[in-house]
Amino acid sequence: MAIKDLIKRKNHNKELDSEFDTKIKELFSTQKEEWELCGNNYSALDQVKLKEILFDGFSIHVQFNPKRIISTSANTNEEAIKKRECFLCNTPPEQKRVLFNKRFDLLVNPYPIFKEHYTIIKKKHQPQTIIGNFETFLDLTKSMGREYTVFYNGPRCGASAPDHTHFQAGSSNKIPIENDFDLVVSSLSNKIYSDSKINIYAIEKYLRRMIAMESESKGDLLFAYKLFVDAFKRISIPKDEPMMNILSWYRDNKWRIVFIPRRKHRPDSYFEEGKDQLMISPAAIDMGGLIITPRQKEFDLLNRELVTEIYREVTLTTEHFEYLKNRIVTNILSR
Ligand SMILES: [Zn+2]
Repeated sequence: MAIKDLIKRKNHNKELDSEFDTKIKELFSTQKEEWELCGNNYSALDQVKLKEILFDGFSIHVQFNPKRIISTSANTNEEAIKKRECFLCNTPPEQKRVLFNKRFDLLVNPYPIFKEHYTIIKKKHQPQTIIGNFETFLDLTKSMGREYTVFYNGPRCGASAPDHTHFQAGSSNKIPIENDFDLVVSSLSNKIYSDSKINIYAIEKYLRRMIAMESESKGDLLFAYKLFVDAFKRISIPKDEPMMNILSWYRDNKWRIVFIPRRKHRPDSYFEEGKDQLMISPAAIDMGGLIITPRQKEFDLLNRELVTEIYREVTLTTEHFEYLKNRIVTNILSR
């Protein structure tokens, strides 16, 4: 992209942390040009197949993307992770980076789902966790502005590097929940708490149960996040981080955060053998409504019933979700 276009974009979009945005755009265009694998994989993205599965008032999108086989089939159990080299510490020599917040680096993801797809990694090799990193996640969402959606996959529900702290970001408005958000909070959710600073919703009629928050105030989001985690810990395995994916975007000076509490990493059908096996490993993007299938088989098979069943299987039961909801409200009111 020419410098004058970058300046134009910079002036046009006042919400952006413009210097960071310029660096991201420069990194993206040079990596695509100079790193062959990366350039080829972004070009191949034009060939991916998409289909839409219609539900009542919203839809789920399916992307057939063979290059994602590495991530979908990643063996993330502790033993396998110990045996391999960390691929976020040992990046290929072609891979360049942009510094974020002193402690993180932004890298172009060479196996994209989106027209622009980034991985934001902690400089230090530390286990994947949102605990202690949520404020950075909010800062990153704000800094990346309106062109991107930022997301997090817990170490046991979608992260293919559970041993190294990282977030991802992709081009905005590609994950259905983002476009559906107003509809979802107005008619498919219960507003469980609201004051002049923050709205908190329990999303219940959108195939998968989620907690959403919207606010202009970072402090209030940090506080509400803490109450959510405290409540969720009570129904999770003690000591472990409660299993969750998070999607977040910043528009009109406001954060929108969607937490997807999980009870399972992969549906049982993932572990079947032969023709019964379904290679679908849901992470934040999939839970947000864009399901990635690295094989044609699943792309063809997915329909309303299967999507409904997969979402049901990996998210909280009615009983646990009721508990979580009530506990968040109790925590807020007793503060
Ligand atoms: Zn590492």
